[in-house]
Amino acid sequence: MGVITVDELAVHGGPPVRTKPWVSKYMGSEELGAEEKARVMRVLEKKRIFRYLPTGIESSEASALEEEYKAFLGTDYALAVNSGTSALICALIAAGVGPGHEVIIPAYTWVATAAAAAIVGAVPVLAEVDSSLTLDPRDVEAKITPRTKAVIVVHMRGISADMNEIMSIASRHNLMVIEDVAQANGGTYQGKMLGSIGHLGCFSLQQSKVITAGEGGMLVTNSQELWERAALYHDGAGYQFRFMERTIPAFPGQNYRLTELQAALSLGQLGKMPALLEKTRRNKQKLVERLKKQPKIELSPVFGTERDLGVSLVLYVENAEKAKAAAQALTAEGIQAFQVYDAESKDQHVYVNWEFLMAKRDPWGGSYPWSLAAESTVDYSPESCPFTLELLGRAVQIHLNHLVNDEDLKDIEEALDKVAFHLL
Ligand SMILES: *Cc1c(COP(=O)(O)O)cnc(C)c1O
Repeated sequence: MGVITVDELAVHGGPPVRTKPWVSKYMGSEELGAEEKARVMRVLEKKRIFRYLPTGIESSEASALEEEYKAFLGTDYALAVNSGTSALICALIAAGVGPGHEVIIPAYTWVATAAAAAIVGAVPVLAEVDSSLTLDPRDVEAKITPRTKAVIVVHMRGISADMNEIMSIASRHNLMVIEDVAQANGGTYQGKMLGSIGHLGCFSLQQSKVITAGEGGMLVTNSQELWERAALYHDGAGYQFRFMERTIPAFPGQNYRLTELQAALSLGQLGKMPALLEKTRRNKQKLVERLKKQPKIELSPVFGTERDLGVSLVLYVENAEKAKAAAQALTAEGIQAFQVYDAESKDQHVYVNWEFLMAKRDPWGGSYPWSLAAESTVDYSPESCPFTLELLGRAVQIHLNHLVNDEDLKDIEEALDKVAFHLL
């Protein structure tokens, strides 16, 4: 007949579950070491830091990185670029997206997804996410108009979107599918590598992602034509440097090329990724198994499955007030947590904070591309995606990485039980 005693919450002056700081929010950069150092030093010693060496492209680090990505994902083509944002812009251009088109994007993604569509002159159209944190296929279908040209499906927080549904909707409506894999590098969906399922896949190598070169990106596709178009846009001088036998007509391009230093660093990181993800996946499965027993917390059915890389933990509680209080209380217990949509923060992952979009503002003081489409009724307001806002408001997030050990998992569980007992 033991009486269960639960300590006072740390946020109310009780003893915290842990005093050690929570794990870093970084992954690949925590593992930078001898391998990357040697690869970068070799590039410095060669004194060739631009990918198009006089000896040809085949010997460059950037080409080697493209080859590794192709082998890793099983795609026919890969293009190294200087960021995830530029990969998205190149993918949209490759897909023929431009003025007069609409691009469906999730209401929860990094702002770059929305900006990339607007930058190529297309109108971003917001669709709801479901509890998986990825596009709700039903809302994608509801948002299709005769102007819809493409969908950017984002594998958010390491969770794969429902690709079967998205691909079948896209094929019924003749839409291009661009996968934004910036947050789920190395993930799979029904055994297929993310990025290889849609018409084009885009990756980021920025420091917050699974592996990193500080900045960098990759675009993959199985289509020669899409690859040529992306390659031409990523390098306006591609005629001279690369395109010996171009099969597409010329158009102006940017310079989104990756340096040899970044490519060498990325090659060192790529080899380390499988081991990192094996750890995060295993941790997340254990954690989800245990947290399923906590009745005050809701989890998506896809959490802890193949569709989950395990790089974050998101919990749904009853309402936004409880989420905010729980995030503060967990942080005080030593488990750094935050409310995913906090009306007082300017987090650029949530559509209401994409200021240019809400105001339909272009870089020149006007309203391009929204002003182009007289018939366009696309309107943005905090009410555009009410389900997403409500869901993210009652969502609490904790960063996970490969450094999380069994003791850390126990601390999460203990802190959550404590917080649930007092607050949820
Ligand atoms: C980081 C990120 C991007 C942009 O990548 P950068 O390399 O920072 O330009 C795009 N989409 C999502 C979902 C991201 O998380």
